[in-house]
Amino acid sequence: MSMTSERPDPKRQAQLIAELRRDVKQREKGYRARALKIYPHICTSCGREFSGKRLRELTVHHKDHDHDNNPSDGSNWELLCVYCHDHEHEKFRMKDHLGRSSPGDDEELPSISNPFEGLDTLLKPSRSESKSEKGKP
Ligand SMILES: [Zn+2]
Ligand SMILES: [Zn+2]
Repeated sequence: MSMTSERPDPKRQAQLIAELRRDVKQREKGYRARALKIYPHICTSCGREFSGKRLRELTVHHKDHDHDNNPSDGSNWELLCVYCHDHEHEKFRMKDHLGRSSPGDDEELPSISNPFEGLDTLLKPSRSESKSEKGKP
C-alpha cells in the first residue's frame, strides 16, 4: 500500500465504493423486482418456470441491450434464465460480428471442376502474353 499517502481517507473511499455497489445492486434489484411483477416467472426463451430458490436463475434481459433503458411498462425487459440469457448475448455478439464483415464473401474459391484445363495452359508456351502486359520501356 504505497498509494495511501495520496488518499488520506481510505476508509471513506471504501465506504463510497460500498455505497456505489449498493446503489447498483438496488437499481438492479429494482427493475428485476418490477419485471418479475409484470411478467410470469417463466423464461421467455425456453419456457421453463422458476420459483422459490430457483427464481435466482431467472434474470432480466434488456431487449435493446441498454441497461439504462428501463421503461416502467417493462417493454424493454425480457425474463430469461441464465442459460438463455447467455445465449441471447452470444447471438447478439455474433450478429454484430457478422454484420460488419462477411468473411469468405470476397474470397473466390478456385474451380476444380476441370483440372485438365489448367494443365493445358501449362503445357502450351503461351505465357509470353504477360510480356505485352508489362510492356513498359
Ligand atoms: Zn431459458
Ligand atoms: Zn441481457
